[in-house]
Amino acid sequence: MRLLLVEDDRMIGSGLRAVLQSEGHAVDWVRDIRSARAALASESFDLVLLDLGLPEAADSVQAAPGADGITLLRELRGRRNPTPVIVITARDAPEARILGLDSGADDYLPKPFDLAELSARIRAVTRRHGGHAQPVLCHCGVRLDPATRQVTLD
Ligand code: CA
Repeated sequence: MRLLLVEDDRMIGSGLRAVLQSEGHAVDWVRDIRSARAALASESFDLVLLDLGLPEAADSVQAAPGADGITLLRELRGRRNPTPVIVITARDAPEARILGLDSGADDYLPKPFDLAELSARIRAVTRRHGGHAQPVLCHCGVRLDPATRQVTLD
């Protein structure tokens, strides 16, 4: 899958990118609101991993005044873009989770999180988005389990 990772923290971003790439995903990593807007306007992604506290531009130190990941999410949904979004953030209060989900997120994962859980949530969200609840994909006797990446032939 092609993923857009929106995360301004270098350590978290590079770690997440490495893990997701090792699982076979193509990862575009952007670190500020301006770059995320540009990527979402010009490219299409299978899923977006979205941090909430983000600078307006990579060279600005402070968080964007008034604009954050929620702003991006609302803009995306306002354009009727249905790309699945998982919010990854340190904001873990129930009110923050509710705001994220009600703004159009498909899932909400507070930091710090377990990487295996993130992978499972990515699989679950893309499964729902694709309209199939079955975790194992079957076609013409070939079975693919995305969790284990095992392919078997009946
Ligand atoms: Ca952040």
